[in-house]
Amino acid sequence: MRIIFLGPPGAGKGTQSERICKDYNIVQLSTGDILRANRNLGTDLGKKAQSYMDSGALVPDDLIIEMIRVELKNPNLANGYILDGFPRTVPQAEALDKLLQELGQELDTVLVLEVPNEELLKRLTARRICRICGKSYHLIYNPPKIEGTCDVEGGELYQRDDDKEEPIMNRLKVYEAQTMPLIEYYSKKNLVDKINGVGEIDFIYNQIQAVLNKYI
Ligand code: ADP
Ligand code: ADP
Repeated sequence: MRIIFLGPPGAGKGTQSERICKDYNIVQLSTGDILRANRNLGTDLGKKAQSYMDSGALVPDDLIIEMIRVELKNPNLANGYILDGFPRTVPQAEALDKLLQELGQELDTVLVLEVPNEELLKRLTARRICRICGKSYHLIYNPPKIEGTCDVEGGELYQRDDDKEEPIMNRLKVYEAQTMPLIEYYSKKNLVDKINGVGEIDFIYNQIQAVLNKYI
């Protein structure tokens, strides 16, 4: 199965992707996670991306498209994947169409997770991430079993620099201006499945499963 996961920052894409990957035996490809790993390793790409990421702006399309071109060829994606955080602009979507054509692959669905901005702000300001595996928690809605520690890897939880109010507001604006047009782009291809992203994590996952089971 090949899925694109669209939705504003904080909609729950990472949280839901984790479950989808386990149950459908596919791999999550998160451009945000890959960029953060590059930044932590101090690679060229990481250095180039840093200032954009800190302010909540998008990293330039050419860097992202090159990165995805390499990632999509990874043999561990053979059983399918979920693209989380990519594409984010129309040029990225067009580049992805080309790449998929080259690889002879087709998408099954573009899941759009819808959550209003006031809820996103509450989710993002109290989000915490594992330094080792990248799993996300919420101080109130989805806390770890032991404060400050990841349930899975025992890693330290930290707050992303861009999960502060100013970069969050920027990211929400960027989503509306640059990423929301993709809903129209994929609607024209009849690929969009919308999911209401407000409610219990389990409840939302049940709705996602109902959609994905159509494509098995
Ligand atoms: P995204 O990957 O879309 O940016 P995350 O999966 O990291 O979003 O979720 C953002 C924050 O909201 C995290 O702190 C997460 O624990 C929390 N969260 C995810 N789903 C829900 C939900 N249904 N209700 C409340 N909080 C949620
Ligand atoms: P979230 O979904 O919580 O906003 P991500 O982890 O997906 O965050 O992205 C974090 C940052 O990484 C973005 O604000 C942006 O700077 C950069 N980024 C991630 N994916 C892309 C992309 N496809 N195009 C451009 N920039 C990206």
